Amino acid sequence: MREKKKSDIAVLLDYAGSYKGLTFSGLALSGVAMILGMLPYICIWLVARDLIAVAPDWSRAADAGRYGWMAFAFSLAGIIVYFAALMCTHLAAFRTASNIRKQGMAHLMKTPLGFFDSNASGLLRNRLDGAASETETLLAHNLADIVGSITMFIGMIVLMFLFDWRMGGACLLAAVISVGAMFTMMGGKNAKLMQEYQAAQDHMSKAGTEYVRGIPVVKVFQQTVYSFKAFKEAIEDYSNKAGRYTVGVCQVPQSVNLTVTEGAFIFLVPAAVLIAPGALAAGNFAGFVTNFAFYAVFSAIVSTALARIMFAASGMMLASTALGRISQVMDAPVLEITDDPKEPKDNSIEFRDVSFTYDGADIPAIDHVSFRAEAGQTVALVGPSGGGKTTAASLIPRFWDATCGTVYVGGIDVRDADPHVLMDRIAFVFQNNRLFKASIFENVRAARPDASREEVRKALSAAQCDDILAKLPDGMDTVIGTEGTYLSGGEQQRVALARAILKDAPIVVLDEATAFADPENEALIQKAFEVLTEGRTVIMIAHRLSTVVGADKIIVLDNGRVAEEGTHDELIRKRGMYSRMWADYNHAVNWKITDREVM
Ligand code: ADP
Ligand code: MG
Repeated sequence: MREKKKSDIAVLLDYAGSYKGLTFSGLALSGVAMILGMLPYICIWLVARDLIAVAPDWSRAADAGRYGWMAFAFSLAGIIVYFAALMCTHLAAFRTASNIRKQGMAHLMKTPLGFFDSNASGLLRNRLDGAASETETLLAHNLADIVGSITMFIGMIVLMFLFDWRMGGACLLAAVISVGAMFTMMGGKNAKLMQEYQAAQDHMSKAGTEYVRGIPVVKVFQQTVYSFKAFKEAIEDYSNKAGRYTVGVCQVPQSVNLTVTEGAFIFLVPAAVLIAPGALAAGNFAGFVTNFAFYAVFSAIVSTALARIMFAASGMMLASTALGRISQVMDAPVLEITDDPKEPKDNSIEFRDVSFTYDGADIPAIDHVSFRAEAGQTVALVGPSGGGKTTAASLIPRFWDATCGTVYVGGIDVRDADPHVLMDRIAFVFQNNRLFKASIFENVRAARPDASREEVRKALSAAQCDDILAKLPDGMDTVIGTEGTYLSGGEQQRVALARAILKDAPIVVLDEATAFADPENEALIQKAFEVLTEGRTVIMIAHRLSTVVGADKIIVLDNGRVAEEGTHDELIRKRGMYSRMWADYNHAVNWKITDREVM
């Protein structure tokens, strides 16, 4: 069974919604405008007929002036109808583009947050915007012109055979030869050469970008020759392939193409010479001259019509690139939201046989992981880098959904919870928690927009941020990231903690950044942690094992699996992975202290 694929244009038009009819009206009007625009050619024929009939007594051709006015009226009507057509297509195009933007954004709102980790949100938005404006141009102008071109082409063929098929055929011969020449350039074995040429062009522009991007590295490492070489090779490759295609393939066909389209009459004259004696014998010489005059003028349309058809084809390509971009956004996975949300019963968290594999990865990042944190308990996830700690933590707020197994919050599957309820219940402090370019006050208040200044100040204080506020010019109202007010990693972490403290959620998920170097910050962060985690259920990813010692349970994740599980003391006694990590950690800490003493 062969399923018919919907054409790109049809898919784009679906975004027009109720404005689809307007697009079609616009396109129909564009066709009508083109027909009106071609009618003056018939007037030319009529004028020629009348003039030749009365020649040389021109004054007797009383109707000639009337035909002239008719031609003028048709042209004018054509312009007016074309204008109306564009009005329709523009209105529909604006609406369609705005629908694409709206639907795209609505779709992005439903994708899991984790999706933005691997697809920068700005990039997606740009893609959507680009596609929407491409569609706008396509629907507003190109499509109407495509319909116009097709109408023109059909009209041209009709007119060619209307008066004298032999002379019309002579003009058409030019069109046929020209199309044949174009196919020679683009079809058969030459298609491969053309693709190679286009690929080389693509490669060259990418290599150029790479080269520019690499300039800092080049400068630092003085690697001029090497990176320049790739770029230079790409240019040489392009120039070879371009030469091979243009000189080797296009030279002759393109010359033929241009010659016959621009000079379609070169076939008309010999045809007329052949037809003339017959017409003379039949006593219809005036009709012959009329037709010849008409085709001599009309043959000029061949080049216009063909150029427009070429242009139409490139418009179709525009449609498919725009659609490609839209589907990149629209095909993004969507987070399933339940219609019948359940309320979490308590603040416990449980992983039951949970596995998760990232899109495109061969092996799972989390592999059959099970553990449980009772309400109020602190569970620490530790283990080597890449073990799957961050991934496990991201499954709790549904940054991603588990590939198999279930994550429970308060005894219910996270997928059965209302996402807002879930988000309200959990505060996250993630490694890459970014602060916005806004005042510290706004940054913290983002966690709870109805919080008062006093509450924000208290949260900052509890997160040990007093020293940060004291040294900033406008205290809490200082905008981060402007005029040299940059915060160190440890300071940013504390502001992020203040945000979580203000949220005052019963469950806290912490993905602590890799240890910050300075010990002052470390001690302050430790204190802020204590405030944040007190009396709550905490899932903590810690790199400083000293933070983990007091946890109710420690889960050691290695290669996505639970390698060990227990309290600090139990795991030390086990003499497994954790006890080795603990020994390494202490060694490192002691080494630091001795190091310091020596200095
Ligand atoms: P940890 O936090 O323990 O260092 P992660 O959970 O970050 O470990 O990573 C676990 C595995 O998943 C690693 O192999 C990592 O390369 C992979 N991974 C992490 N994030 C992504 C992502 N966004 N896309 C694909 N693979 C990822
Ligand atoms: Mg991590």
